[in-house]
Amino acid sequence: SPQSKSPVIKPINKGVVHRICSGQVILDLSSAVKELVENSLDAGATSIEIALKEYGEEWFQVIDNGCGISPANFKVVALKHHTSKLADFPDLESLTTFGFRGEALSSLCALGNLTIETRTKNEPVATHLTFDHSGLLIAEKKTARQIGTTVTVKKLFSNLPVRSKEFHRNIRKEYGKLISLLNAYALTAKGVRLVCSNTSRKNLKYVVIKTQGSGSLKDSIIQVFGMNMFNCLEPVSICISDDCKIEGFLSRSGQGSGRSMGDRQYFFVNGRPVDMPKVSKLVNEIYKGANSKQYPVAIMNFIIPTRACDVNVTPDKRKVFFSDESMILQSLREGLQQIYSSSNASYIVNGVD
Ligand code: ADP
Ligand code: MG
Repeated sequence: SPQSKSPVIKPINKGVVHRICSGQVILDLSSAVKELVENSLDAGATSIEIALKEYGEEWFQVIDNGCGISPANFKVVALKHHTSKLADFPDLESLTTFGFRGEALSSLCALGNLTIETRTKNEPVATHLTFDHSGLLIAEKKTARQIGTTVTVKKLFSNLPVRSKEFHRNIRKEYGKLISLLNAYALTAKGVRLVCSNTSRKNLKYVVIKTQGSGSLKDSIIQVFGMNMFNCLEPVSICISDDCKIEGFLSRSGQGSGRSMGDRQYFFVNGRPVDMPKVSKLVNEIYKGANSKQYPVAIMNFIIPTRACDVNVTPDKRKVFFSDESMILQSLREGLQQIYSSSNASYIVNGVD
């Protein structure tokens, strides 16, 4: 109701603000796990294990053999905007790590119960750390562990009532989205062994994804999707300009095997998994001209100079802006048309100009 007196403006409780903002960084199960996997990649891990209990509903854990966190950083590691990856704004242009905002761990603290076990090469033993919802370190004890880091999050969203209800109701869908995202990392992370397992309520553990981290995209595709699927693909290379190109694999015109629009379509910018709805639409549209009964599988990496793209558009960093998007789409369109129009298609296409 309208007030006759001007209301008093008061600051919102800090903890509440933190919880609200964190809910924008960590949107769902897959964005939570994605942040942890990216931290492991940034830490130089060559082995990453993702363990889920009850599809992540109870807890999830990311175990790596990366560089570990040094004791000097224990107190600040989960504080908002504390990062080891970026100090100045100009750094953003030359960024090569996945993370840089220092928000993931602090947000996960706000939304669930976070613990870390970590050990660097300089420590003889590991340390188990417990954090509170504001990211403060509240307990610390020694434990046994190899070099690397394990981050565990229990009861995600338990203190956001509406999100929590959604999370539990949609858990199978969230889990499906997570597996598709982990497939993307399994495809792109060269030389990184990636394993994902889920443990059921009855304590049965089953492995969902397992790659050896061989180093070639071909091997990763075979390990993630199987040999039959790989045999329906053709390597593709489309040159856009001197320093821009698209590389990957596409379904042959008669052998699409995506089950639905967008199924088994993975897009990357400089190896970073991203959403590219316009690209997906274009690929489907042109493929349809050659094969109207099936959907194409597409695994495509856009190699673009970092100065010509911005991944810092949305908090989950899944959206990209290109300085010349129309040129990229135009080259892609012409490349795809060339690939799918002729009967003896070559999937190697050189520049438009
Ligand atoms: P960001 O990744 O943007 O720096 P995060 O909140 O994700 O922010 O992580 C904060 C810091 O914690 C990182 O900058 C890094 O120094 C450290 N860290 C997080 N996860 C790991 C890990 N798995 N191994 C080593 N260091 C880690
Ligand atoms: Mg991070």
